[in-house]
Amino acid sequence: MSETAKAGRKELYKDRQVQAFLRKLAGEQPSELLPAFDHDCGYKFTVLEEILEDTTEAENFLDQLTEVGILNRELHDKTILCPKCSSQRTSMRYNCPHCNSFNIEKSALIEHIICGYIDTEDRFKGDGQLACPKCQKTLTKQGIDYRKAGVWCKCNSCGKSFDIPVPSHVCRNCQTEFTFEDGRYREVYRYVLSEEAKEEASLDWVFVTPVRRLMEKSGYRVKTPGLLKGKSGADHLFDIAASKGKNKKMIVVDFATSSKAVSEQPVISMFAKIYDVNPAKAYLVVVPGISLSGKRMAKLYNITLIEGKGSKEVVESLEDVFT
Ligand SMILES: [Zn+2]
Ligand SMILES: [Zn+2]
Ligand SMILES: [Zn+2]
Repeated sequence: MSETAKAGRKELYKDRQVQAFLRKLAGEQPSELLPAFDHDCGYKFTVLEEILEDTTEAENFLDQLTEVGILNRELHDKTILCPKCSSQRTSMRYNCPHCNSFNIEKSALIEHIICGYIDTEDRFKGDGQLACPKCQKTLTKQGIDYRKAGVWCKCNSCGKSFDIPVPSHVCRNCQTEFTFEDGRYREVYRYVLSEEAKEEASLDWVFVTPVRRLMEKSGYRVKTPGLLKGKSGADHLFDIAASKGKNKKMIVVDFATSSKAVSEQPVISMFAKIYDVNPAKAYLVVVPGISLSGKRMAKLYNITLIEGKGSKEVVESLEDVFT
C-alpha cells in the first residue's frame, strides 16, 4: 500500500465517525461488516446507521475507507435495481414468450418409460394414483417406470404452450416492470478491516473499550462516543460520556495517544468542549504520557490526567477513580 494511502488513513483516523466505526468493527469477530437485507430498502449496513449523521453517505463513507486501505471489500452478492426508482425491492416474473403475459400455468411433464408417452402431470391423474392415459397402466415408482421430463407451461391469456418462460422483474416500490437489460445490476460488498488498519488504529479501541466496560461494571450509563449539547447549542463529541445515579452528573473522558509524549493539543481541544458542555468531571487519558506544558495546562483547565504506558495501566488507574 502506497504512502499516499497511508497518509489518507492517518487523516481518516482523526475523524470521529471513522473512530466510532472502527471501534464497532473491532468488537466484531471476525472484524467484518456484513450487509443485511432489509425487506423495505434492500441491502444496508445497520452499524453505519448508528454512526453516520447522514445515512445517505454510507456508500461514500465505505468507498473512502476502501480507497485508503482501511477496509478491504469482497463481493457478497449482486442485486438488480429498478431503473426508475433505484429500489432493490424487486421480484421476478415469468412470462409467456408469445404475448408477454405473466398469467401462465406451470406443470410438470411426465414420461411413462414403458410406453414412451409424455404429457403434463394432470393428464396422468386417475383415482388417487397416476395412470397413463395412453396404455392405461398405473404408474408405480418414479425413476423406474416413469420419470419427470421437465416443465411445460400454458398461457392463460393467449392459450399457447411453451417450455421456457421469459423472465422479467417488477419493482415492488413503484410497480415498474422491467427486463434484465433495462435494470441496473449492481455489486454488493462485505467489508473486512485491513491488517494495516488493525495495527494503526488499534490504540483507539484498545483503550476506549476496556474503560467503557469498567465504567459499566461500576454502574455508569456509558455512551461511546458520547455526543453532548453545549450551552452554545453546538454538539460536542467525547470518546466517552457517562453518568451515574440520581444526580446524573456527567463525566467525560477523552483519549490521546502518541508514539512519544502527547502534546498539549488534546488538552486545548478538550477544554474548548468542556467549557461549553460543563460536565461534572473531565478526564483525559494520555498514552504513554504527556509533555510538561500539557500537564500544566490540564491543571489550569481542571482536566484530570490519567497517564499510562498501555491499556492495562490505564484501566488500573481508572479502577480507583470509577469504583
Ligand atoms: Zn421502482
Ligand atoms: Zn403408458
Ligand atoms: Zn400468451
